[in-house]
Amino acid sequence: MNFELDEEHKMLQAAVREFAEKEIMPYGKEYDEKREYPMEIYRKAAKLGYIGASIPEEYNGAGMDVLAEAIISIEFARADSGIGSAIDLAVLGVPMIMRFGSEEQRENFMARVLKGEGPSAIAITEPDCGTDVAAIKTRAIKDGDEWILNGTKTFITNGSVGIFTIVLAKTAKTNPPHRGISAFIVEPEREGYTARQIDKMGMRCHDTCEIMLNGVRIPEDHLVGRENNGFYQLMAFFNESRIKIGAIHLGIALGAYERALSYAKERKSFGKPLIEHQAIAFKLAEMYTAIEASRLLVLKAAWLVDKGKADPALSSAAKLYASETAVKVTYEAVQIFGGYGYSKEYDVERFYRDARVGTIYEGTSEAQKIVISRKLAGKIRV
Ligand SMILES: Cc1cc2nc3c(=O)[nH]c(=O)nc-3n(C[C@H](O)[C@H](O)[C@H](O)COP(=O)(O)OP(=O)(O)OC[C@H]3O[C@@H](n4cnc5c(N)ncnc54)[C@H](O)[C@@H]3O)c2cc1C
Repeated sequence: MNFELDEEHKMLQAAVREFAEKEIMPYGKEYDEKREYPMEIYRKAAKLGYIGASIPEEYNGAGMDVLAEAIISIEFARADSGIGSAIDLAVLGVPMIMRFGSEEQRENFMARVLKGEGPSAIAITEPDCGTDVAAIKTRAIKDGDEWILNGTKTFITNGSVGIFTIVLAKTAKTNPPHRGISAFIVEPEREGYTARQIDKMGMRCHDTCEIMLNGVRIPEDHLVGRENNGFYQLMAFFNESRIKIGAIHLGIALGAYERALSYAKERKSFGKPLIEHQAIAFKLAEMYTAIEASRLLVLKAAWLVDKGKADPALSSAAKLYASETAVKVTYEAVQIFGGYGYSKEYDVERFYRDARVGTIYEGTSEAQKIVISRKLAGKIRV
């Protein structure tokens, strides 16, 4: 057993930290206020191979592994919760194509995201269903050599700034319903694709949209993987994407903790630094412990994927624990800063707002517990 990163991963971590502190950290407040997707910062990161680092070099990836991606996610979000996660989630549409797509789809769509042409999206959630994925109503009907899509998707990250969206749609009436779902590549410029921004509590520089699909026609080669296999492809996608969300929220927790720790060493009350008061010191001790536990879960889940032993329950546990930790740690960081924590002068109020979505998107905390408990009951075989 070895808990140390190898030389290659250590070097990556140091390089990404340097990049993130220079190119991300100073701009968090600005992008949060102007509510704009940080396209130029995403492009700079892509040029350095930090977007989709686990994808082979022939598709513009860095040819590294899922552990490397987790390290990058942590460093980006540590620098800034909003920008860091926004540019990291540029790859949302990538894993489905990498794993199940055709060679043409990898070259014509996936590789462009890693090159810096624009982010990608995955549209699962609908106004009437999120957790219950099998209940989606968006339909795709075959018409000659085209598919026609109709439906509404909501809360779609990168739904308007992306170069493509992977859309999950019903392609057959089946019992059980999850067997009749397929995945499609849809470009936002297609006729009938419209996107509306959703105003939200945090992650304000993220592009989060409601998407209307009104008779959108796409060529038949835009089907990703096999027809009616979309639900299973999605479950494979979640094994990795939940590790990424866990890593992002671990980074958010780390960023808030570090800021609170330095503040507690500088700020004085009753003649001594805050950290000399046990109530504050114990908060920091608990924050530190939860962050270290999250780190072990996230990095182990990533390591298992790299070993070809992806474990859905551990990916869910990593996402569950790290995102709940981020909510608690950012809450305490605001508390340690006192009134300044509530003001826009310091980063922690933004980290606090941005952390909150972690227990909701990519499956709620309750949904993660469903996955974990199904594995414990022997209903998921790994
Ligand atoms: C900022 C943001 C970005 C997002 N990005 C994307 C994206 O890119 N693509 C995408 O497809 N979606 C995205 N989502 C949507 C997100 O994944 C869903 O909001 C989430 O899966 C929950 O679905 P819902 O909102 O419909 O809640 P519901 O499914 O209606 O659930 C409501 C509540 O009930 C609980 N619940 C539901 N069913 C059960 C059950 N069986 N047992 C116990 N509790 C249950 C849930 O945990 C939750 O607390 C995003 C959401 C946000 C806020």
